Amino acid sequence: MKNIAKVYAPPAPHMVGDGFRVHNFIPSFPALSMQRMDPFIMLDYGSKFVFPPAPSPKGVGVHPHRGFETVTIAYKGQVAHHDSFGNSGIINEGDVQWMTAASGLLHKEYHAESFAKTGGEFQMVQLWVNLPAKDKMSAPKYQAITNQQMAKVLLEDGKSYVEVIAGKYKNQQGPANTFTEVHLQNAILEKGVKVEFDFPSTNNTFLIVIEGSIIVNGSDPIPVDHFVEMDKKGTSFTIEANEKAKVLVASGAPIGEPIAAHGPFVMNTRDELVQAFNDFNDGKFGHLED
Ligand code: MN
Repeated sequence: MKNIAKVYAPPAPHMVGDGFRVHNFIPSFPALSMQRMDPFIMLDYGSKFVFPPAPSPKGVGVHPHRGFETVTIAYKGQVAHHDSFGNSGIINEGDVQWMTAASGLLHKEYHAESFAKTGGEFQMVQLWVNLPAKDKMSAPKYQAITNQQMAKVLLEDGKSYVEVIAGKYKNQQGPANTFTEVHLQNAILEKGVKVEFDFPSTNNTFLIVIEGSIIVNGSDPIPVDHFVEMDKKGTSFTIEANEKAKVLVASGAPIGEPIAAHGPFVMNTRDELVQAFNDFNDGKFGHLED
């Protein structure tokens, strides 16, 4: 059995730009370092928050990324996105954007225009997935994954299900293409329903309670917005809905390479970080208007 290593209450939120009110779990908690959670190197969780209507969309302005992937899950509200290659799009409720920054781009992330006008509940996850050295300088790309494209595995009660974004649940493959083994899934559970997950003991695995509260391997109830770090050893664990619940389940094979990280750049060596800053300053990430 894979046991709970530790349950974390959400730390005080901070604002990313003026539109993303997030609790940072990885790597802010010393025990949730990039090395410990490899390949998951950053996790910002925007717990449910009501934004009032705004005359212009709130968000975060033009900034670069290099060396990894950003995975944005919109649970409530809509996120708009533009980048220096001319790509743009909207991540709607229930959808996921899997952006491979790799060799680098500039982008900006905002509330969608329509969401800004009406305001409302906003809840999201941004997870950074590291890339192996050999893929860090590959071409940037996007996967706009709609909720409809995700594999849905119905559970015993015929109502609860596991939604597979990436990796596999019970031989159902999610639509995301990943560079290394990454499982990213939502369990949507009616009260009292129990679901079992099984991942290699070499993986790093965590959960976030998105809605309701859960019991993991018969634990005390774990409340909403809490982060569950699972032990490395063991393979299988159960999640039971203490009340109607939604849980994000993530498990990935560690890449096991050196990590040199600074702000929006995550490389293998200090020299590569310096190169990233130089390339950024030389305009090699392209151009994007604020
Ligand atoms: Mn970004």
